[in-house]
Amino acid sequence: MFKDTINFIQSVYSGSDFIPLHEPKFIGNEKKYLNDCIDSTFVSSIGAYVEQFERNIAAYTGCQFAVATVNGTSALHLALMVAGVMPGDEVITQPLTFVATCNAISYCGAQPVFVDVDKGTLGLSADSLEQFLKENTYVNDKTCINKHTGHTVRACVPMHTFGHPCEMERIQSLCTSYHVHLIEDAAEALGSRYQNLHTGMFGDTGVLSFNGNKIITSGGGGCLLTNNKQLADKARHLSTTAKVSHQWAFSHDETGWNYRMPNLNAALLVAQLENLDRFLQDKRELAECYQGFFSGKDEVFVTEPKQCQSNYWLNALIFPDKALRDIFLNETNSHGVMTRPAWELMNKQPMYKHCFCMDLTNAQWLADRLVNIPSSVRL
Ligand SMILES: *Cc1c(COP(=O)(O)O)cnc(C)c1O
Repeated sequence: MFKDTINFIQSVYSGSDFIPLHEPKFIGNEKKYLNDCIDSTFVSSIGAYVEQFERNIAAYTGCQFAVATVNGTSALHLALMVAGVMPGDEVITQPLTFVATCNAISYCGAQPVFVDVDKGTLGLSADSLEQFLKENTYVNDKTCINKHTGHTVRACVPMHTFGHPCEMERIQSLCTSYHVHLIEDAAEALGSRYQNLHTGMFGDTGVLSFNGNKIITSGGGGCLLTNNKQLADKARHLSTTAKVSHQWAFSHDETGWNYRMPNLNAALLVAQLENLDRFLQDKRELAECYQGFFSGKDEVFVTEPKQCQSNYWLNALIFPDKALRDIFLNETNSHGVMTRPAWELMNKQPMYKHCFCMDLTNAQWLADRLVNIPSSVRL
């Protein structure tokens, strides 16, 4: 049924007999910097590559401070902790996301609250957020309170799904007027911009991931971005076991975490970042190929939202219904073309199914119809 689509995807990837969803590309200085890192003996959490990476990613994204971490989940956890998220708090997020977003909220002892996503951006819907805040909360002494539970609505974590930016202007202004901390889960969105500003720059903090399937990778890694020096200092302190800086003494002034990125991972990542612009350009060309091929077909190819530049991390199709989508999943995967549905919604997972949900019609609609198709850089 989808023979022509399978042939097209195979031709885009020069006839390979197995085409993964997204594989990393190591075509630059990766081995050189890794060797240098090993020779230096500084392979762990102290080292020149970690600091160099923090400078380079700050320059690339246009933020003032970057804190490199062992993975994206730990960066999210730090972002929530420095926002003051405490046990009993509520944190607004979307149900269509990777489980890490909710897990990090849980690590703080807080509860996710699910608002719907937007069908155009695939990310947190400003309309649904506004409705939640208007109907369920009031502001008292610069704190947003859920009037039904009495709990503080401390933060909001929009996620830029597959690299497509959420409607950040409205989300930002809602968070500001309701005194809710804004933390962007930009784990999938390195290189994506909203009105020319890099994602992760709209909130108090933004978070990136460098897991093996992301647009650039350090094996495992993450990063917290912020323009607020106090938040950066606090996050760095918490990520390094809250050790008080001293020439030889081991003194810690609170319970900290061992979350700092090792130098070995940073060496790989510094090399990867050098090629990011080439990767982005190749991914944009790939997205244009797909857009051309799928135009006029029943399944819709997802393109970047207005006023946005997406990184096209994972390309996506939306099918008219779930039955057709499932046929496509079966046919492509049995012909060596890897495709995947979106995540099962977070409000359906056993540990989050008791959480408060707004009307989630769009999220469910997308979860039933969406498929990711091969998106690796082809260089
Ligand atoms: C990848 C990802 C993360 C972080 O994942 P790590 O594997 O911990 O780096 C967080 N949120 C989303 C939406 C992600 O896709």
